[in-house]
Amino acid sequence: MEILDKIQIDLNAKKIGEKLHVQKTGSWDQFQGIFEATKPLITPKAVYVVRYIGEKLEDAVVIDGICLRSRVLRKNLETVGRVFPYVVTIGPGLEAKADASQDLLEKYYLDSIGNAALIHARKYLQGELRARFAMEGLSFMSPGSLEDWPIEEQRSLFSLLEGVENAIGVKLNESLLMIPRKSVSGLYFPTKVTFYSCQLCPRKPCEGRKAAYKEDLAREYGILK
Ligand code: SF4
Repeated sequence: MEILDKIQIDLNAKKIGEKLHVQKTGSWDQFQGIFEATKPLITPKAVYVVRYIGEKLEDAVVIDGICLRSRVLRKNLETVGRVFPYVVTIGPGLEAKADASQDLLEKYYLDSIGNAALIHARKYLQGELRARFAMEGLSFMSPGSLEDWPIEEQRSLFSLLEGVENAIGVKLNESLLMIPRKSVSGLYFPTKVTFYSCQLCPRKPCEGRKAAYKEDLAREYGILK
């Protein structure tokens, strides 16, 4: 297992604040104060492993004897042999501060700063994978992002990442959510054209949307009849 525990992220208070419409919801001074106090609490870390697909079934792939069941993942891995299961976290500090706060606006700001930090940390991992394995195109999928690959599949994904709790302090709770909550998990794989689960997800509104929903593509993947 590869551990990245010195992830550098460069958060931009102005960009995050503008996205949150700070000038309407509160004051810049308040936001700036929360932002500066929060930065030292963010400790981004990541782990990944390199794995080879053992078997390709109709709606699943088998890696190291562990079955990952998803029609979409299976289709995405049609011509792929090597994959990179991963977990990224920003640690427990920010959410502990948010949990302790009684101020709803501060909680909202903290949550948004945490989400931005997590995105930066995941992109850092993506850059490392690109550089280390000389891959140009890279996409990822995460259990729970689509009905087709439900949250229950976290168990299987974490089975491929044995030791993740010792390495970076991330574990699954009984509901299969990650603790610390500000963590993401998934599987990176090489692609010629970038795939986004959002392209197959009709949910709206969604602040996290990375690409427009494509009904035709959902039909092509066989998840829309
Ligand atoms: S649109 Fe939103 S809910 Fe759907 S996959 Fe993208 S980020 Fe997740």
